[in-house]
Amino acid sequence: MKIAGLQKTSLIDYPEKISTVVFTYGCNLRCPYCHNSGLVKNNNKNIDFISLDLLFEFLRRRKKLIDGVCITGGEPTLQTGLEPFIRKIKKMGFKIKLDTNGTKPDLINKLVKENLIDYIAMDIKAPFSRYGLLAGSSKYNNQIKESINILLNSNIDYEFRTTVIPGYHTENDLIKIAELIKGAGRYFIQNFKPHNTLDSAFKSKKGFPPHVLEDFKSKISPYISNVGIRN
Ligand code: SF4
Repeated sequence: MKIAGLQKTSLIDYPEKISTVVFTYGCNLRCPYCHNSGLVKNNNKNIDFISLDLLFEFLRRRKKLIDGVCITGGEPTLQTGLEPFIRKIKKMGFKIKLDTNGTKPDLINKLVKENLIDYIAMDIKAPFSRYGLLAGSSKYNNQIKESINILLNSNIDYEFRTTVIPGYHTENDLIKIAELIKGAGRYFIQNFKPHNTLDSAFKSKKGFPPHVLEDFKSKISPYISNVGIRN
């Protein structure tokens, strides 16, 4: 496990829970608007990785203060040792939320089947035809589709979510995404924020105005009953 960062307390990363957020290093996608660019590049020499001993000691001290641990990235499912890492945290009595881009369905399936995860947030970057542009690669489309089906057919608490960017995501894209995840329990439209982006050209872009997000929501509500907006 390569742990590149820690947010001691978060009130927003794990729905309705107080959590500590663990940031893993490395990602197999290259979304140009990614906010965690320092975690995505393979050769970032400026990271002081946090040892597992230190992390577990920290969590032991937080036991009465937080409900859960949110594991994010980068892409956590690329980490060798993720499963035993999660098992250990679960044994300490914490709930686990996993953020994922969905490119490792076998691991997701195993974690779900063995009840090691309490909540999964999976990104749907775009319709599959636009993953090359909006996620830097379309070579994992089949795996992502598999992960979607795993979540749709599971009893786990989950959400799908899409970060939407003016000039890149259209109403038609949102409808195609909604068709892909039709019947999902929960879907969030997340507005783009120009902060620390992987492609510096995105730093000058702005998010959608609220009324456009509401329009997106009303267009996809026939496919998914619970659609939220994160602005
Ligand atoms: S936003 Fe894209 S590039 Fe950034 S961590 Fe998530 S999947 Fe990887």
